Amino acid sequence: MEARRITDILRNGQPDETVTVQGWVRTKRELKGFAFLEINDGSSMANLQVILNGDLPDYEPLLKQITTGSSVEAIGLLVPSQGKGQRIELQPSSVRVYGGCDPETYPLQKKRHSFEFLRDIGHLRARTNTLGAVFRVRNACASAIHQFFQERGFLWVHTPLITASDCEGAGELFAVTNLNLKEIPRLENGEIDYSQDFFGKPAYLTVSGQLEAEIMAMSFKDVYTFGPTFRAENSNTSRHLAEFWMIEPEKAFCDLEGDMNLAEDFLKYVFNSVLNTCPEDLEFFNQRIDKTVLATAENIVSNQFERISYTEAVELLLKCDRAFEFPVEWGVDLQSEHERYLAEELFKKPTIVYNYPKDIKAFYMRLNDDGKTVAAMDVLAPKVGEIIGGSQREERLDRLEQRMAEMDIPQEELWWYLDLRRYGTVPHAGFGLGFERLVQFMTGMNNIRDVIPFPRVPLSAEF
Ligand code: ATP
Ligand code: MG
Repeated sequence: MEARRITDILRNGQPDETVTVQGWVRTKRELKGFAFLEINDGSSMANLQVILNGDLPDYEPLLKQITTGSSVEAIGLLVPSQGKGQRIELQPSSVRVYGGCDPETYPLQKKRHSFEFLRDIGHLRARTNTLGAVFRVRNACASAIHQFFQERGFLWVHTPLITASDCEGAGELFAVTNLNLKEIPRLENGEIDYSQDFFGKPAYLTVSGQLEAEIMAMSFKDVYTFGPTFRAENSNTSRHLAEFWMIEPEKAFCDLEGDMNLAEDFLKYVFNSVLNTCPEDLEFFNQRIDKTVLATAENIVSNQFERISYTEAVELLLKCDRAFEFPVEWGVDLQSEHERYLAEELFKKPTIVYNYPKDIKAFYMRLNDDGKTVAAMDVLAPKVGEIIGGSQREERLDRLEQRMAEMDIPQEELWWYLDLRRYGTVPHAGFGLGFERLVQFMTGMNNIRDVIPFPRVPLSAEF
């Protein structure tokens, strides 16, 4: 008989149904003549209670084999539960232990473990309540993101992970090479001879799929990427990973306002969807991790986001009586403390800041008529700060060339990007969203390393 998921049994199982369950033992409680097991298969926070009766064949040896962490299959009848806390429980007529689990050495004991400790046992931590809930929410979130775009006719495009254009994120790039590092071929002048490397030139892991997404938007109108991104972030923060997932929609025939609307609709849709698919998990986060999780989610779903220009934001920051570590003046990039002040304390909801000074933004952002600012926007979220960064792209060839020249961006390398402005150019806009930042925001988890199964950070690539 096909095993049923525990979430399904807890929700839909009826007394006198015969079911098979498979999972891992969370706890065992022995009483006189019988024992209680709590079994979990990852499908829900709640465990299935299983009552082992003393008249089961080989009861005593079976009970010895079953320990916390062991894997079991139980087949039997569902019965109404006498105890509190669950509607239904299982009284198996047969139980099979697949793999035992030595209680002396099993690192997951029944006490609370710190997240730091759990990171060291990344191969086992998904079996804990919190990480289990995180990865279910992460999955629901990914699914909602695809649904949002697919319902609106966006094409999911797969942009390359290896790229040879290094115009963005200099200093944060991971090199990709198959040169023999013990014997690097060199030119006469001592520089590395990349003509002998795999691609015949320097190559890197991508820091963003945006430029390629723009290519695809110029024939499919509305596209999005959803894939891994790499940055050699040397800072050890609770918000940066070296390998993270990014979502980057790109929309043709769209301006900055359309872009802000898309970002707001997107966040509302995804939060609403996860509230509906993972209510127990979010409830758990709200109780155990961050008491504002549910209120924040409701706030996002039901309120209009605040929208202010960068210039207005700077004025507000100058006016407030807060002593910031980094002083504010027109022209500087907003720091996390400023972003959090705006979203968390002043407006108490997601806040979109738009029209940033051109000198602190990327070359491809569209120059505004004031000549000083570009049509960029950031969505700032309470607790996490910047969660989405986007812009209308410069679609005018002459302006783009001028901007690239000013910023020393080599035009030869991006000939294809300029070509898009020669052949059927159109106003277009998009944004980038760090997937893990979104999951962090949604769950209230403090450290980004605890919302991705296998975090990659400086000096750590275990598992
Ligand atoms: P930050 O200022 O936080 O470093 P950024 O300005 O470098 O962010 P962008 O280049 O705009 O970020 O990248 C788009 C999005 O990707 C960000 O809004 C953020 O959600 C996410 N992001 C950026 N860097 C990382 C990282 N190292 N780990 C996880 N997510 C990241
Ligand atoms: Mg950064």
